[in-house]
Amino acid sequence: MNIHAIREQFPILHQEVNGHPLVYLDSAASSQKPRSVIDAVKRYYELDHANVHRGVHTLGSRATDAYEGAREKVAKFLNAFTPEEIVFTRGTTTALNLVASSYARSVCGEGDEIVISKMEHHANLIPWQQVAKATGATLKFFPMGEDGRITVEDAERTITSNTKVVSITHVSNVLGVVNPVKEIAAIAHRNGAVMVVDGAQSVPHMRVDVQDIDADFYTFSGHKMCGPTGIGALYGKKSLLNGMEPIEFGGEMIDFVDLHDATWKEAPYRFEGGTPMIAGAVGLGAAVDFLQDIGMDNIDRHVKQLSAYAYDKLSVLEGLRIYGPGRDRAGLITFNLEDVHPHDVATVLDSKGIAIRAGHHCCQPLMRLLNVSATARASFYIYNTEDEIDLLADALLQTKEFFG
Ligand code: PLP
Repeated sequence: MNIHAIREQFPILHQEVNGHPLVYLDSAASSQKPRSVIDAVKRYYELDHANVHRGVHTLGSRATDAYEGAREKVAKFLNAFTPEEIVFTRGTTTALNLVASSYARSVCGEGDEIVISKMEHHANLIPWQQVAKATGATLKFFPMGEDGRITVEDAERTITSNTKVVSITHVSNVLGVVNPVKEIAAIAHRNGAVMVVDGAQSVPHMRVDVQDIDADFYTFSGHKMCGPTGIGALYGKKSLLNGMEPIEFGGEMIDFVDLHDATWKEAPYRFEGGTPMIAGAVGLGAAVDFLQDIGMDNIDRHVKQLSAYAYDKLSVLEGLRIYGPGRDRAGLITFNLEDVHPHDVATVLDSKGIAIRAGHHCCQPLMRLLNVSATARASFYIYNTEDEIDLLADALLQTKEFFG
């Protein structure tokens, strides 16, 4: 990969922040956007915009083609069986809520179990808490090792014939572990449960094949993979989606309406009531093209190399504690510098132009398990370099000396 050429395509990276060249290490929260994505959205608004699926006029069909074309790209990107298995949503949060509210509430009851992990982002925890409260189902958690790993053996012991839903993140946004979702999906299916995967941190980085994993539902956000904010998707097996009730009602999603009743279109349209995020979908399609041109395996390799490099550099800093597994991890390092609050660490780094995240990362229960209230997190993507990690390590050393 020619990182220099890739960086050239991201206008935002070429600026100074607080008098220093920007070092952007917060892509797990949201990635930056390449020129091709920005241009695709701009071109759409300049040339093709109209509402979709309605008008017979030329712009209406161009907008519809652009929107449905993006759905086809996403379907191929995830290796879905058909584009109808892709529901556009606002992002991972909305997609997971859709599965919880529509699917899980209708199948769960007293005595049933929903199995998740303790490392889940609030987006893959709170919707299931709500389903459990509303239906009387029990929320169960996979046991987790010291290094944050969930083993297939533990999954075997936790999922039972009472389990109706298993929902787990593919990659943890705090620990950087990659969970064995394919093996867990097989166990879920053997027990008659459906498998939901939170792909917010995996889809931007690695080749995801929903048929190979045999996920029933798989969710992700466009803004973490070079796409615009406000767009993401739910992949769902067609047979499941068409058996589910919509959770939003209005225009676009209906088949027939009279004064007292209505019927729904087939999936995905029954879940896309109202005017959708057309420009967002167009931008997401351009992001898929951009990532595929580079190659998902190349991205995966580059980001993992950066992570291992960062692990080697940071783990030797005295007083710095890294959470999660060793150097074999996804593209992020979560850490604390002894006695310095992570917000102070992030503030000092920001004064040097280095953007990292500090806080609970929407994982409050996991923070409690780690015995901390917050951590710092540096995360890496296609445009990051080893030089930037050297700058991070130097800045952390200076921060330690400053507070020391
Ligand atoms: N799940 C994980 C693992 C995440 O990292 C995030 C975002 O940080 C989300 C879910 C929520 O994504 P969004 O805010 O785009 O809906």
